[in-house]
Amino acid sequence: MIVVLKKQISDKQKEVIRSFLSERGYTVKEIVGSEETVFGAVGRSSLDTREVEMLDGVASVIPISKPFKLASRELKKEDTIVTVGNVKIGGGRIAVIAGPCAIESRQQIMEIASSVREAGAVILRGGAFKPRTSPYSFQGLGEEGLKYLKEAGALYGMPTTSEVVNPSDVPLMALYIDMFQIGARNMQNFELLKAVGKTGMPVLLKRGLCATIEEWLMAAEYLMASGTDQVVLCERGIRTYERATRNTLDISAIPVVQKMTHLPVIGDPSHATGLREMVSPMSLALVASGASGLMVEVHNHPEKAFSDGPQSLYPAQFEKLMRDLQALSQVVGKSLERISRITLPTKKSGEGAVLSTEGRLVVSFQGERGAYSELAIRRAFGEECEVLPCKSFASAFDAVLEGRALYGMIPVENTLGGTILENLDLLDRHRAIEVVGEQQIRIIHNLIGMPGATIEQIKEVYSHPQGLAQCTDYLGSTLAHAQAISFFDTAGAVAHVKECGDPTKAAIAGVPAAKVYGMEILDEGIESNPRNYTRFYIISREEHAQAVRSMAAVNRASLVFTVGDRPGSLFEALLVLTKHGLNMKKLESRPIAGKPWEYSFFVETELGEEGAFAVAFGELEGICKSVRVLGTYTSNL
Ligand code: PEP
Ligand code: MN
Repeated sequence: MIVVLKKQISDKQKEVIRSFLSERGYTVKEIVGSEETVFGAVGRSSLDTREVEMLDGVASVIPISKPFKLASRELKKEDTIVTVGNVKIGGGRIAVIAGPCAIESRQQIMEIASSVREAGAVILRGGAFKPRTSPYSFQGLGEEGLKYLKEAGALYGMPTTSEVVNPSDVPLMALYIDMFQIGARNMQNFELLKAVGKTGMPVLLKRGLCATIEEWLMAAEYLMASGTDQVVLCERGIRTYERATRNTLDISAIPVVQKMTHLPVIGDPSHATGLREMVSPMSLALVASGASGLMVEVHNHPEKAFSDGPQSLYPAQFEKLMRDLQALSQVVGKSLERISRITLPTKKSGEGAVLSTEGRLVVSFQGERGAYSELAIRRAFGEECEVLPCKSFASAFDAVLEGRALYGMIPVENTLGGTILENLDLLDRHRAIEVVGEQQIRIIHNLIGMPGATIEQIKEVYSHPQGLAQCTDYLGSTLAHAQAISFFDTAGAVAHVKECGDPTKAAIAGVPAAKVYGMEILDEGIESNPRNYTRFYIISREEHAQAVRSMAAVNRASLVFTVGDRPGSLFEALLVLTKHGLNMKKLESRPIAGKPWEYSFFVETELGEEGAFAVAFGELEGICKSVRVLGTYTSNL
């Protein structure tokens, strides 16, 4: 049952409820959501729910209708984010697990780890205990394999996962891996589920070959009831009459499961199809259907693989797949999970001013809570960081400059609206601030109103002028009966509608704004052009720049320069980039404040071959009146 607690409940009252339930044989789990806190109580005994309802501090009691309780969406409405080492699975992320079917040698796992890490995989897989159909097939290297896996994971900074087949192996495996994998053949090995669940460690639970979705979720329930809440489901194809592929990938299971459970669900296109050329298209299909990630088999020499060679991708194919996923992730409004690059400075290192009292990371942005910039912050830094809303772009810069925020998330360009020139000027002006990263998000506009409001009721729609302009088709058709009213920002418009409490008013904004203000999304994806993206710069003070740059390959630079007032001076500057093979990605000119009819030029360029940018920069210093690098960073665009 779900025991919904009153908002003002005291700790003492909570304790009384908890003991009441435990004494009657229930296991009690506290779940803190953004709107309410509940106790999930599961157990074998039956209890008249009215007895619980009468306890002080209880708002209501709701029975869970599904046979799986802890895993059900009824109990926990918000997505569970599973943490595996420094990687997160779930929410707005796409996490890719890759590696060979089986660990065959130290050299093999090292080579594969290096190539999948380079391509963007975040968790390394490799079987050490292989459950093979034939007893004569390779059974895995056992503990020796686990040692190699751990070593490769540590060397390439990736957490690891490997399949456990025997309850007695659990303690040994726990020493080597970061996430247990329960294979399809063992999905209903309940003793194994209990032994793994007891560790409290993350578990990847494959769907059984012939398991229904409900049986699969009951297996997850076993894990959770035994002590872990870190469960990732993995659809890996089911047995049907079709023999053209090894199994039949049940794509529709992804959205079905997501509705039924808060646990993240990923897909395994390798075992689902058994055929290399099907792996990439099915990977894309899985992500398009809403999967929170993939598990893909990759081998450096698939033709020589001890197991599952025909379905293993070559490293180059995997690299191409990762690039395709990068493009697709933007379309589905998610971001590819990367190995966390942010090393949080601790108070001890003298950074007390930039961290809040709980020692959290603070990131500034312009706008109200729930703005699109906040979405970009969550994508780049995760849910744990603290956001600092600022009235203007200038004050978001100031927050970084003064150390109230470690980073700032600053929009530079929208694919429909163009460059946000004010921010280029601010970058030019703030010499102590650098561009250290980049984040792109897809802008998905939604009609947001009071809970219970209907679209037909709406008479007034508020949003930022750009938000309104980007939804003209919708405003002219579905909302033809309503009046569009400009507001200073999208999230602010939602806050305004909430304050009015009027069901005839609505706002156009992103999903986070609806969440932050507890409002209802009346209609989703109402923008006229779905190919609407905003690109942000992540800024920080020079001295913190290195922390975000350390892990990923830096491949882009932003610079600003001025040239002399003579024929060909801009041309000559750009020629330097051409000469050194640097691909220019953006060029913008801005008037220089206080110098009428003089201009600064902003350039973004790829860094090209090693050392090319440094030489080019030296030449630019020679021919430009002034030149300055605004920052170097990793770009995936
Ligand atoms: C595996 O991932 O190596 C594996 C054996 O998968 P499944 O259990 O899905 O067959
Ligand atoms: Mn395999």
